[in-house]
Amino acid sequence: MSTGSFVEIAPGVSVTTAVKYTTNTTVVVRNDRAVIVDPAWTETDLNAIAAWLQSSSLHISTGLSTHGHFDHVLWHPEFGDAPRWGSPRAVAMANEDRALILEHLEGDIPPEWPHPVDGLHALDDTHVPDPFGDGDLEEIELVVHDGHAPGHTAMWFPDRGVLLAGDMLSDIELPFPFFPDDLPAYLAGLDALAPVVAKAKVLVPGHGHVTTDPMSRLDADRRYLDDVITRGDSDDPRRALDGMEPAHRKMVEMARELPR
Ligand SMILES: [Zn+2]
Repeated sequence: MSTGSFVEIAPGVSVTTAVKYTTNTTVVVRNDRAVIVDPAWTETDLNAIAAWLQSSSLHISTGLSTHGHFDHVLWHPEFGDAPRWGSPRAVAMANEDRALILEHLEGDIPPEWPHPVDGLHALDDTHVPDPFGDGDLEEIELVVHDGHAPGHTAMWFPDRGVLLAGDMLSDIELPFPFFPDDLPAYLAGLDALAPVVAKAKVLVPGHGHVTTDPMSRLDADRRYLDDVITRGDSDDPRRALDGMEPAHRKMVEMARELPR
């Protein structure tokens, strides 16, 4: 996996994957305009994305963040001054966590860059205004919920058959509810995602691998959570992956606290 190399995963939809935590940046293109979602992660990655956009003669018309975590609100000065949007709860969280975000990104991006949250604004509703900046509307359906993080937003591009799931429905991460107590919100988030997962041909998780079998991801997460809630354990193969055992133990603890 080479930094900055994009793979077209659906018509006009390209993804590049950063080495760090297998983090995906998605670019959705129409003509010479691009909607960029969750650009990440390091200065090197972001430089490579800027260079690819330039060599492809693409101009960013809109930036979108799926949620307010530090690795999903990044920006590069050369991306320009396109409007950048997140859901109201996601943007509020990112603003509350400004100091924490910089702490997490120390060494990843140059200190002289503007604070990444500076240009991020809250959407009025679940509608992205004029995403390609050409007045010709393409629907982007936003599924806003509080699983994983407040105001977490999945983005469904019906014309492309592509669902950007944010930090849910990953093949390399177990479900991460917002600690300590949002397991019910996470379950509600999966329910909110189900109708678009059923329609999607391709799913891009925030971290992990793109799949052409989106329903398998939803099934895996529901099975895992059901096992942990009903019998306090799970044999989900993701437990063997880097960093997942502590996440699993936390989840067992959260499931125990659920009101019965
Ligand atoms: Zn996250």
